[in-house]
Amino acid sequence: MRIDVVSIFPGYFDALELSLLGKAKQKGLIDVRVHDLRDAAHDRHRTVDDTPTGGGAGMVMKPEPWGEMLDGILAESPDEPAETPRSEAHGPLIIFPSPAGEVFTQRMARELAQEQHLVFGCGRYEGIDQRVFDEYAERGRVRLVSIGDYVLNGGEVAAIAMIEAIARLLPGVVGNPESLVEESHEEDGLLEYPSYTKPAEWRGREVPSVLLSGNHAAIDAWRREQRIERTRRVRPELLPRELRGESRGRHAAE
Ligand code: SAM
Repeated sequence: MRIDVVSIFPGYFDALELSLLGKAKQKGLIDVRVHDLRDAAHDRHRTVDDTPTGGGAGMVMKPEPWGEMLDGILAESPDEPAETPRSEAHGPLIIFPSPAGEVFTQRMARELAQEQHLVFGCGRYEGIDQRVFDEYAERGRVRLVSIGDYVLNGGEVAAIAMIEAIARLLPGVVGNPESLVEESHEEDGLLEYPSYTKPAEWRGREVPSVLLSGNHAAIDAWRREQRIERTRRVRPELLPRELRGESRGRHAAE
């Protein structure tokens, strides 16, 4: 997968050199290219922002540097736009991290892991001039994506979170693909069960005895029960409909 990132703080993306993503880059599983937006700002101060038209606090990112930078990246995309109606369009997908966007989920990560070429445009200040989104949405595919209902100073941390969640789903990035299946937010939408390792007792706290029993059916049943209970307690809205009654019924009886 090819990933281009545009930011005025390219140094943030040094984090992608570490751990599994660093190895994935070395193995050629992901090709990440980071671009400094200021390279497309040509005045003496390499200005990328200006005051909001109509007044208001803060600064807004100017459209011209974004246009020049994104045109250059799209012109080199390995994923050619298809000669098909827009509803079936292929081609690179531009993601602008934004607290005003659709919320990023594991489902979206799985969907985006199918793409050939992702471009992340990281906003700063009060965000990017709206015409940049409009221009590229008309010419191709654009999504505004939020990583949660809070406001960061810039899109860099959000882009890193999304890149990590997407890239670890690509074949070969995580050593044991089975570890991807059993996680929170996968398949049935339940949160993960609690995990333990050795020693069997630590500071007087014992590992649940069922996990030491060697009875795999009992372990599976215990883990599923734990997943349902944790999800009901922490994120009840994630419980699949068929489990809502089951869980409520049992607790009503307690
Ligand atoms: N004025 C914007 C608003 O109210 O929607 C917030 C701008 S924020 C200070 C600057 C940049 O941080 C945004 O352009 C976006 O790239 C990024 N950002 C902030 N919070 C985010 C979030 N929850 N998810 C994704 N990106 C976020």
